[in-house]
Amino acid sequence: MRVLLASPRGFCAGVNMAIECLEECIRIFGTNIYVYHEIVHNKYVVDRFSSQGVKFVNEVDEVPEGAVLLYSAHGVSPVVRQAARARKLRTVDATCPLVTKVHLEAIKYAEEGYNILLIGHEGHDEVIGTMGEAPESITLVESPEDVDRLEFAPGAKLAYLTQTTLSVEEASAVITRLEQRFPQIEHPPKEDICYATTNRQFAVRSLIPDCDVLLVLGSQNSSNSRRLMEIGQSLGKSAHLIDGRHELRPEWFDGAERVLVTAGASAPQVVVEECLDYLRETFGADVVEEVTREEHVNFPLPRELRQMARVQLQ
Ligand code: SF4
Repeated sequence: MRVLLASPRGFCAGVNMAIECLEECIRIFGTNIYVYHEIVHNKYVVDRFSSQGVKFVNEVDEVPEGAVLLYSAHGVSPVVRQAARARKLRTVDATCPLVTKVHLEAIKYAEEGYNILLIGHEGHDEVIGTMGEAPESITLVESPEDVDRLEFAPGAKLAYLTQTTLSVEEASAVITRLEQRFPQIEHPPKEDICYATTNRQFAVRSLIPDCDVLLVLGSQNSSNSRRLMEIGQSLGKSAHLIDGRHELRPEWFDGAERVLVTAGASAPQVVVEECLDYLRETFGADVVEEVTREEHVNFPLPRELRQMARVQLQ
């Protein structure tokens, strides 16, 4: 068996920053800290922090007054920030700057009187956060069929934004339909689907034609990981999204000569290594890394956290 190990894969700059944020908070405040929803959508990462004592909450009122609350990489709606202020929480914002970019675009278009079509998946943390910036002005669209159902007057002021972790192909189908129906529709100068999503999808699309099976390391609720699995499936390959080695089934590899392994933007390298060990031990796999694009993106820790660290040093 030959294993192609896709690169880029795994942690993106936003996930790295969010995890560093939480580690730095633990260093400064100890583990008696709270995180609004999962810090990133990965079971391994969340379990590791939970076992250290970090508490993940679904509602701000689960956090004791005055405690430290971290916002996750997916961002939060202004309603959450307001609730945290009302409880006098000390907040640290680990929102990925590329998600913040979409929030700022939503605010700008709403202030200028546009109706905003947000292309995304209902219920995803990022979509909830972005829609919360201008709920009166934003309509969610998930498919070209949703676009067909929109009712705006000809010439209405319209703009579209996208969730950062969509399938490039699927978003493009929705955008095409929007532009057909509403030729006046505007969009931000730089696209919202982030570099990490685009690069991981590009790697899978480039490498999958020569492979029989696709393994994606990532959690079921990770949007960008699911999109990677769906690319494999849409091209007729056997594709599996798993959290780690314990979920692997030997029958998935019956007759497989080439296996493509990748990881979503929130999946750590350790779970990839464990799966590669399994494939080497069980099938004598030979692993070759295939680099389709280079990535050199880093985000600094949020200012409030750097200030807290400085105060602690004084
Ligand atoms: S996937 Fe993209 S938007 Fe999401 S955290 Fe990573 S870099 Fe940021």
